[in-house]
Amino acid sequence: MSSVFDLHVHTVKGSSDSSLSLPDLVREAQRVGLTGVCLTEHTGWRDLREFDEFAARHDLVIIHALEVSTVVGHVLAFGLDSYGVGFSNLRELRRAAHRVGGYLVTAHVFRNLFFPPPYNKSLVFPDPSSYPRNVQDALSHPVFHMVDDIEVLNGANTDQENTFAGEVAKYLGENGTGGSDAHSIHGIGSCVTVFDGDIRSKADLLEALRSGNYHSRLGGTDEDGYSCQGVDSTPSLDPAPTSFVDSCCQRR
Ligand SMILES: [Zn+2]
Ligand SMILES: [Zn+2]
Repeated sequence: MSSVFDLHVHTVKGSSDSSLSLPDLVREAQRVGLTGVCLTEHTGWRDLREFDEFAARHDLVIIHALEVSTVVGHVLAFGLDSYGVGFSNLRELRRAAHRVGGYLVTAHVFRNLFFPPPYNKSLVFPDPSSYPRNVQDALSHPVFHMVDDIEVLNGANTDQENTFAGEVAKYLGENGTGGSDAHSIHGIGSCVTVFDGDIRSKADLLEALRSGNYHSRLGGTDEDGYSCQGVDSTPSLDPAPTSFVDSCCQRR
């Protein structure tokens, strides 16, 4: 039996920039047929007992995690529930995560890479003059050697950004994860991660992530109003790409 998870969702309880209420989260996740969701909150829930009580009330697997802002971009930290000293340093975050059997995934790693500055900037490649020109260039960034996997389908990224992440993951032999990055009801389940086994808890999720028996895919259907292309499409590796590409996974 497989389990379909949206591994990247923010709610009002743990992310100040989210408008997604808990009832709406549950209703929409069940409507689109998810097995579960992972709340990768920016700050995390203040009261984890409250989270446990909330999660236990629903026939939907709901797991708490963090999206940590580091000096090399945003990192999904599965297995961690609250910030620790020095987490902006990926080395510290990695130490803490691995101490508890956690799993780190670099999130939306190529967001804004194909948009011309100064209106947009990449969190991972702060100097536009040294933006990677191809997959090999990108691989030299240390972040790819300090995380456990790469988010290759992010619902708020463009197709081009996701495709490029997919190529980098493929080159590194990583599975790649998928998540919507939803901050409201819109887009929940637009990008998902499918696990081979049955996942009912955080421990199950961590074990499944470490085992590598999972893959990403686009969620939603035409009836849902999503228009997405998969990571299998041919990536553009043109030197210094700057063209605008329509956003992936946005509702029409
Ligand atoms: Zn982020
Ligand atoms: Zn996010």
